Amino acid sequence: MIFCPGTAVWVEHPELAWAEAEVVSLSSPSFIMVVLSSGVKAVVDGRKVLPRNTEADLGGVDDMTKLVYLHEPGVLCNLARRYTLNEIYTYTGHILIAVNPFAKLPHLYDMHMMEQYKGVQFGELSPHVFAIADASYRAMVSEGHSQSILVSGESGAGKTETTKLIMRYLTFVGGRATGDIRSVEQQVLESNPLLEAFGNARTVRNDNSSRFGKFVEIQFDKSGRISGAAVRTYLLERSRVVQISKSERNYHCFYQLCASEQVAGKYKLAHPKNFNYLNQSHTYELQGVSDADEYLKTRRAMDIVGICFADQEAIFRIVAAILHLGNIEFSPGKEFDSSAVKDAKSKFHLHMASDLLMVDVSLLLSTLCYRTIKTPEGNIIKAVDSSAAVVGRDTLAKTVYARLFDWLVDNINKSIGQDMESRAQIGVLDIYGFESFTYNSFEQLCINFANEKLQQHFNKHVFKMEQEEYKTEEISWSYIEFVDNQDILDLIEKKPIGIISLLDEACMLGKSTHETFAMKLFQNFRAHPRLEKPKLSKTDFCLSHFAGKVLYQTDLFLDKNRDYVIAEHQNLLCSSKCSFISGLFAWHQDDPSKSSYKFSSVASRFKQQLQALMETLSSTEPHYVRCVKPNSRNYPQKFENVSVLQQLRSGGVLEAIRISLAGYPTRRTYAEFIDRFGLLVPEHLMARVDEKSLTERILKKLSLENFQLGRTKVFLRAGQIAVLDSKRTEIL
Ligand code: ADP
Ligand code: MG
Repeated sequence: MIFCPGTAVWVEHPELAWAEAEVVSLSSPSFIMVVLSSGVKAVVDGRKVLPRNTEADLGGVDDMTKLVYLHEPGVLCNLARRYTLNEIYTYTGHILIAVNPFAKLPHLYDMHMMEQYKGVQFGELSPHVFAIADASYRAMVSEGHSQSILVSGESGAGKTETTKLIMRYLTFVGGRATGDIRSVEQQVLESNPLLEAFGNARTVRNDNSSRFGKFVEIQFDKSGRISGAAVRTYLLERSRVVQISKSERNYHCFYQLCASEQVAGKYKLAHPKNFNYLNQSHTYELQGVSDADEYLKTRRAMDIVGICFADQEAIFRIVAAILHLGNIEFSPGKEFDSSAVKDAKSKFHLHMASDLLMVDVSLLLSTLCYRTIKTPEGNIIKAVDSSAAVVGRDTLAKTVYARLFDWLVDNINKSIGQDMESRAQIGVLDIYGFESFTYNSFEQLCINFANEKLQQHFNKHVFKMEQEEYKTEEISWSYIEFVDNQDILDLIEKKPIGIISLLDEACMLGKSTHETFAMKLFQNFRAHPRLEKPKLSKTDFCLSHFAGKVLYQTDLFLDKNRDYVIAEHQNLLCSSKCSFISGLFAWHQDDPSKSSYKFSSVASRFKQQLQALMETLSSTEPHYVRCVKPNSRNYPQKFENVSVLQQLRSGGVLEAIRISLAGYPTRRTYAEFIDRFGLLVPEHLMARVDEKSLTERILKKLSLENFQLGRTKVFLRAGQIAVLDSKRTEIL
């Protein structure tokens, strides 16, 4: 592209990603002198300069494909402009981009708004998450075909809030409006606060961060009414139960219970600062949240979802027991390498834990301080030292909590009920986005693996949609190449040799360590383009994900991949006089992951769950919502270019734009086109020609080339609509 002096352009900028500038002069195509809006002059590489949308776009456009220049800075600037006007939603074709406002926008989601979007053709009103929900509902009703809405984004970007809005809209259009608080739709909605109480926590990124992935499938009957629902959850973060980092909190339910005056007293609870599992981070309160009120909301949600009073009591007894368990401290015992409960205070907590769990106190004590070792000669009971006792105690707490969470999910599903004859479903996926931190462990590998899977699904879909449109319109288009990520998926999940298989093998062989695991990995994939061995470490590895490189530290990989309940813990909990607790630990024959003794792999199970999810998704028509976090401090009205750009990249938005740009991103039906541009050829309007020929005449008259005339639509290259529009304005 040749730039004349005076042209408005974008130039790359280290802090802003892209900066507005104007061409001053050019000495050669590769050296251009520009002046930035700050007044600073600079010489830049002309090949990296991009043309800038000017005045016409000041207010932004509601669909990126309407931009005159569809490129990275154009997309970014459009989002930023709209964001300052509180227009947080923008389309990119059929993808909805949602920028978190970090401020309450009540009018945006009220009943009136839902009424407005109901049944309205997609694209007719301003972009909105309700429009996506409505489009999927209409498609489901009219075609009887299942739909899915995939919500993604980094932590704090607004996925969970978006998911809840979608669910609220779907219950609005598909509810029976009986007013019954135990109706299926109310139960579906109330499952949210319940799961959040037990699965969400404050993190440095988000005060209400979901520590699990969630897929909610809402089932509809023949008349489009909600008839059932199923919730599937993925990978709850267990370690948080016993360990929290600075400024973070444990799961909300612990603080709620401590704040609930009557019940807290009954279970001998006090301020969270008194409990080891809560006081490590010195963070107790959430801004604008009363844990006591939240406790009541959780109980109400339990009522609505159909958890009986006795079960509710048992659930909170378990929550209290975990807190007491965490306060049992150990000191070295009388014998060598043994341990004993440290002092009177610890003894009190031991007794409280055993009372609340309704297990024998001496059995609890021996479970914590001794271990059974199987030998060919029979079982040997061996004392454990005090640090091993702490590890065992924490494992017990995590095991109990994880089972409790699974029970809640199962119970929600049972209580809402499944409609086996459901005609079609709408699934809503709220799952952690791509993660890359300074320290990345096993969890990040699983999360990024899930994101690779979803990215593949997304690319295939965007590609397929484009291809199909070109095919049905019978226009020629040679396909651009796109970077497939099958190679990294194979690297992670392929059997018998892939990262997960190698990890499972290491977990099963007694002698393996993370060092031997890393060694095997590099031996097997010596020259893999997606895998790198960092120079300074023998055990770290680096993967080139679609969204960027991530360095993984393997030290805890083996431990974190092992999922089994220690036999002594299983026995202890099975012996509980509380049928709720013993029921949680009754032998599950049908589910090997829930059996004791045997090793079961967290990664392999996650892989299977993902496989099942992908199968479900591929039988549906997908809709995408990409949530964007405008800044890392959760401030309203602050838009940070560099990080937003990275998120658009990770969310595949830029890739989708690239795909569409390679073809003819602008398309209009002939009727639409003539309606708008017919006045450019007044001399032909009365002629007896069909709309297609008329369209061709308009384009020829303006000497536009490189358009395609499809069966029902005209296809234009990026930027051509701008030319047409400016001609139109001249005439008007
Ligand atoms: P994620 O699930 O992506 O981690 P959340 O959905 O929990 O993020 O959102 C984080 C916070 O951002 C919310 O607690 C809320 O304060 C704010 N937020 C998100 N979406 C919206 C919205 N549409 N309107 C107002 N605030 C929002
Ligand atoms: Mg969330």
